[in-house]
Amino acid sequence: MSSQSYINEVLEHIKRVSPRQPIFFQAAREVLTNLTPLLDKEPKYQKHSVLERIVMPEKTTIFRTVYIDDNSKAQVHFGYRVQFNSSLGPYKGGLRFHPTVNLDVLKFLGFEQIFKNSLTGLNLGGGKGGANFDPKGKSDGEIMRFCQAFMNDLYKLIEDVKDVPAGDIGVGAREIGYMYGQYKKLTGRFDGAMTGKGLSWGGSLARTEATGYGSVYFATEALKKKGKSLDGKRCVISGAGNVAIYTAQKLYEFGATPVTVSDSRGYVYDEEGVDIALLKEIKEVRRASLSEYAKEKKSAKFVSVNDYKSGRNEVYDVPCQAAFPSATQNELNLDDVKTLYANGCRLVCEGANMPSTHEAMEFMLSHDDFIYCPGKAANAGGVATSGLEMEQNASMTSWSFDRVDGELKNIMKNIFDIAYQTSVEYGKPGNLVLGANIAGFKKVADAMIDQGYI
Ligand code: NDP
Repeated sequence: MSSQSYINEVLEHIKRVSPRQPIFFQAAREVLTNLTPLLDKEPKYQKHSVLERIVMPEKTTIFRTVYIDDNSKAQVHFGYRVQFNSSLGPYKGGLRFHPTVNLDVLKFLGFEQIFKNSLTGLNLGGGKGGANFDPKGKSDGEIMRFCQAFMNDLYKLIEDVKDVPAGDIGVGAREIGYMYGQYKKLTGRFDGAMTGKGLSWGGSLARTEATGYGSVYFATEALKKKGKSLDGKRCVISGAGNVAIYTAQKLYEFGATPVTVSDSRGYVYDEEGVDIALLKEIKEVRRASLSEYAKEKKSAKFVSVNDYKSGRNEVYDVPCQAAFPSATQNELNLDDVKTLYANGCRLVCEGANMPSTHEAMEFMLSHDDFIYCPGKAANAGGVATSGLEMEQNASMTSWSFDRVDGELKNIMKNIFDIAYQTSVEYGKPGNLVLGANIAGFKKVADAMIDQGYI
């Protein structure tokens, strides 16, 4: 069978067996359709049914999570862990607490994670988990009780050499702390079963900053290849969480100016540049809406989602030369990217996982003067630094900030280099989606073949 027919057959199979999982299908289609030139060259992947195997998680666990809210009422949620692929190492991937979490979303995230982790060059498998729990508006006590209830099942699946979760949307240092405390109580173990831990109890310096910093390092490499830099560029950022905050912070170091951040309630446009200290105070300390930012900073305005007239994500209407989508999946559509382009933007670097729709991605790839850095490669800095945290835990040491940041920089450069070189090798120079997918896939697929049919 031709490679193209093989890929189509596997995609049809996914539709048949997972009919209500459009986001997972989107992620799988993006990877598989990029593999044609590799499968043409290397028939072994078809011979060993690698595609059929790689699109199916090794193990999926769904569990009921019940906690008592502040009104003494039992609240019931779905908890999940998708252990997608362990060919390169222990399952690794974050936990997301958000009302939109379901199996479709977690399968997409877990699938992406396999290739992202492969690109880091570290021995990490891919997984993802979470719950359809909304931490927003909950008291500290409710968050703690939810995290403990969630860990009452998750602990059976995780361990430092088996499965090592971290944070994602809605799961930051506070939630990791509560979950790790419960893990310790249930298992009696103090090991590296989670990353993103507090600095005094096994966490790594620079883990908090890593995804945002890494995304900017990746963008600088991509620009350098074209003889350009971030210096003097106005940048639009979406999101106002972990990834967005540290992307904004690092952009200043490269002479760029982040002028927006956004959350689910709207966006802030600050023509003087985003004030990092104020943003951190509002988002990390007060856990409040971005509307507070504009009340405290004269040069800024807040535009509420209720006032969006286009029905699109209007943060992308703000003119810029580079954009860093850092909120969630499918937040940047074709109209958004056309607007960015018309306003002079020539680089999109994805801090979030799959923030661009399929059509937006096609638009970016079809314009030679546009640099598109896919999340799978560009946001790998977080998991890479989690890998470094695991390394420090295993050797019972802790490294300096500069050492971790230096390693992060090297890893991001290596990821760019391998994605770029692979795009050249397979005839699409500069197509970093194709380069990242082929390079990430090849390593995992070869390990799967070596390890037999399991
Ligand atoms: P956070 O929870 O810290 O922040 C998420 C931000 O995005 C918040 O400002 C949130 O607004 C906004 N947001 C989330 N969902 C939506 C939505 N549906 N519409 C509009 N805004 C939304 O998460 P992170 O910063 O950690 O993660 C952001 C993205 O980066 C995700 O795609 C994640 O998978 C990806 N990522 C994260 C890594 C990490 O190390 N943290 C590593 C690699 C990728 P609000 O607070 O109002 O909900």
